Amino acid sequence: MNSHHHECTGANTSPLRHPRRLEVASNPACGGSEIFSRVLPPRVLQGSPSKITPELLPRPPRLLLLVNPFGGRGLAWQWCKNHVLPMISEAGLSFNLIQTERQNHARELVQGLSLSEWDGIVTLSGDGLLFEVLNGLLDRPDWEEAVKMPVGILPCGSGNALAGAVNQHGGFEPALGLDLLLNCSLLLCRGGGHPLDLLSVTLASGSRCFSFLSVAWGFVSDVDIQSERFRALGSARFTLGTVLGLATLHTYRGRLSYLPASVEPASPTPAHSLPRAKSELTLTPEPAPPMAHSPLHRSVSDLPLPLPQPALVSPGSPEPLPVLSLNGGGPELVGDWGGAGDAPLSPDPLLPSPPSSPKVASLSPITEGPPEMPASSGLPPPTPGAPATSTWGPPDHLLPPLGSPLPPDWVTLEGDFVLILAISPSHLSADLVAAPHARFDDGLVHLCWVQSGISRAALLRLFLAMERGSHFSLGCPQLGYAGARAFRLEPLTPRGLLTVDGELVEYGPLQAQMHPGLGTLLTGPPGCAGQEPRT
Ligand code: ADP
Ligand code: MG
Repeated sequence: MNSHHHECTGANTSPLRHPRRLEVASNPACGGSEIFSRVLPPRVLQGSPSKITPELLPRPPRLLLLVNPFGGRGLAWQWCKNHVLPMISEAGLSFNLIQTERQNHARELVQGLSLSEWDGIVTLSGDGLLFEVLNGLLDRPDWEEAVKMPVGILPCGSGNALAGAVNQHGGFEPALGLDLLLNCSLLLCRGGGHPLDLLSVTLASGSRCFSFLSVAWGFVSDVDIQSERFRALGSARFTLGTVLGLATLHTYRGRLSYLPASVEPASPTPAHSLPRAKSELTLTPEPAPPMAHSPLHRSVSDLPLPLPQPALVSPGSPEPLPVLSLNGGGPELVGDWGGAGDAPLSPDPLLPSPPSSPKVASLSPITEGPPEMPASSGLPPPTPGAPATSTWGPPDHLLPPLGSPLPPDWVTLEGDFVLILAISPSHLSADLVAAPHARFDDGLVHLCWVQSGISRAALLRLFLAMERGSHFSLGCPQLGYAGARAFRLEPLTPRGLLTVDGELVEYGPLQAQMHPGLGTLLTGPPGCAGQEPRT
């Protein structure tokens, strides 16, 4: 790697500017590299030793940590240094750390990476950086091997959806901010991985990318992109964006077609046997099984480690902003806008301009077509970043060319939508459980949509209920759901925003196919929160 990368090697976190490789002795309590053995590709575990070389001796699992210093509120680097690196070192993992310098930097690094040197690639940012890593792995000539590289996510961004799902899978109570990071770090140190479904998304121009999270159109993508200007709020930006988005609600005409999960494809793939959806054509999925949350909220202090607890924020930095919680808004928000402009949403000095009062704005009619971009924010309107298109990766055998008719076993819905959301894991953000029944490798893309005709109060109720994943129990007639293996989305409204994994993409028709268990996610063991560390 180039020397100009801000790199740090080994377990010693200070000073980070002087790389040195530390041979971290395997910690017997963690089982050394065995903790990653379930996810290690055979090339790492097997060798054909003709002579004994140091490389053949057991070595600690080696992680490549990629840190986006601008992720979330810009705290990624501090959180990494103060919390993550000490835990990883204590767990007997060795690491190299690189701070990303620009968009697509991580993607390029991963594309040129010598895979055999690493046991995992872990991003410290939001979902966007992992998106780059997975697409980098899949855009290599050796993508079939490369995509098996275990990837992990340590949530330091403003959008931490996958981390929310990992946190739940690990058996923790829902968490945000540093708590979520500590939980996920602990799970990462426990070791263990899980196959991860990846959705291949083809855009109107023919370019293709791989999504581990979501494709969104309408309300969800509007909130995601328009709340970019509130980045300083961290995850609370979505709460504020939701309230503002509700105030200026739009509907979008479009067509959603999908291949229901239960229908056998015309040419079944021999590679994977696909799980069947239980209720693919019903409008509401079965209630989620009760979550296995531990009674105690686990924090780093549960580790039997003498970890220093440095200040989260350096003296010169602003205090962390309070996290605006939809929970904290209380039931008075539901069906009543009276309180929405008050305490929970007081304007913050970090915002470019105070938000307009939702109370006033909610009087505007629900309009058809896309929202106006905020002109007063001083920021240029968002343009799709250039997510370099994948030339490699698995073929999409379920999809005819975009624009060609779909096979007869597909279902098509046409109408006016408030939102269409295609989600792969359970979580849309760290605190929104959009598809509570989703699993990392259920082979399904979970299609959720809200048709026009819903009131603002009902839409707000949906999002409030989504915090607990109970929105499908509300009996909202405009809310629809289908488990699918592929889908096509054709906007019939000329302007709007489409996002893939929270990143803006070109607007127009798109289609996508799920590739079950194509990737490997470092999740830690399931439901292990509250258990004693393995000995
Ligand atoms: P957040 O949740 O805070 O948005 P993401 O991980 O989604 O965090 O990152 C946001 C965007 O920043 C992504 O598109 C990512 O590619 C990009 N990015 C990564 N590293 C850098 C960097 N050093 N400078 C600017 N942008 C970066
Ligand atoms: Mg993001």
